[in-house]
Amino acid sequence: MDRRRFLASALAGGAAVLAGCGTGSAPAPQAAPPTTPRPTTTAPTTTPSPTFPAPQLARVPIPPGRLTGLPGEGSSLAWTVDDGDDVSVVRAYTEFGRDTGTRLTFFLNGSKPAWTENADLLRPLVADGRIQLGNHTWSHADLTSLSAAGVQDELQRNHDFVQATYGVDMRPYYRPPYGYRDAATDAAAAEIGYTCPVLWYGSLSDSALITPEALLGFADQWFLPQHIVIGHLNFTPVTTVFPQLHQLVVSRGLTTVTLDDVFLRP
Ligand SMILES: [Zn+2]
Repeated sequence: MDRRRFLASALAGGAAVLAGCGTGSAPAPQAAPPTTPRPTTTAPTTTPSPTFPAPQLARVPIPPGRLTGLPGEGSSLAWTVDDGDDVSVVRAYTEFGRDTGTRLTFFLNGSKPAWTENADLLRPLVADGRIQLGNHTWSHADLTSLSAAGVQDELQRNHDFVQATYGVDMRPYYRPPYGYRDAATDAAAAEIGYTCPVLWYGSLSDSALITPEALLGFADQWFLPQHIVIGHLNFTPVTTVFPQLHQLVVSRGLTTVTLDDVFLRP
């Protein structure tokens, strides 16, 4: 049994697996949208950010309902990470994305200091589209425990924070904390423009503290074509295995993508 199969079988069952949602057709290729021009002023004390081309994908409409994977055939990986409990982990993930060209989606809770303390580092990558921000509620609330107004308050407060701090609009993408959602929360969120709950198909299972070796096992299991994978910005082990995670992406011929790389906004 080779290592990959061993790890996959040894670790199977530990990660969230959700059914896929609708699939899209494969339209003709089109050019990626132009990226936002970088400011011409530079801060002399910071290392210049390497430039990496955006993936050239034919973007498709967002399928209705929840999103758990990427539609169609391809070699894309939507590597998404949540929360932001640890300031240093958010910084390290951001630097990893900056330095390797790995495209990431951060589902953040604006109540956590990491999103203010790392804003200057993160802002240019967000502006370039290399890191996309998605709404994960202001305080990591279980939306199913709230009234419609409560759901909207949680999403809107986070929305307003990100708009003010990063200058971007996260709609229509949000990730319900714990994956908890129902028809009532979907409807409340949609009323304020959050029409696309983003779930996942594969997890690094690091919302709690696990070893780097275990985390690599989950990556080995789930870093696969057209998957949306969830990780967390909460504990340091992941920051010790970025080279191995990057190598896994490269060796499998995967292209990391943000949601905006794949889907047309409504
Ligand atoms: Zn979360």
